[in-house]
Amino acid sequence: MVYCHCGLRAKIRTSWTALNPGRRFYSCPKQDDCGFFDWFDPPMCARAVNIIPGLLRGRNELQEANNALVHQNGRLKKLLIGSWILFLHTQNAYKTAYIKIIQDCASVNQNPKCIQ
Ligand SMILES: [Zn+2]
Repeated sequence: MVYCHCGLRAKIRTSWTALNPGRRFYSCPKQDDCGFFDWFDPPMCARAVNIIPGLLRGRNELQEANNALVHQNGRLKKLLIGSWILFLHTQNAYKTAYIKIIQDCASVNQNPKCIQ
């Protein structure tokens, strides 16, 4: 168990700096920390230090692209639902008008809208 200068159990955090990407370290758990610091993980090899930042950038770019697609997907769903509501409303309006014409034709044979 590792304790900080405050006597509290040190919290393990992850470094995302260019020199230590993904390397974990101990630090004070308080918001206004005492400055305690010690590495949890051993030093990273040079190859990992070179590769991990590029992988993180690629991952972040993919996450941003995915977020944009999720947003666009939500907009398209709303448009689709709106178009279906409009379509059904239009269909119902045509159906109502058609029924009215048929009823008019049944009651008055001289109606010009009637198809003989
Ligand atoms: Zn502390």
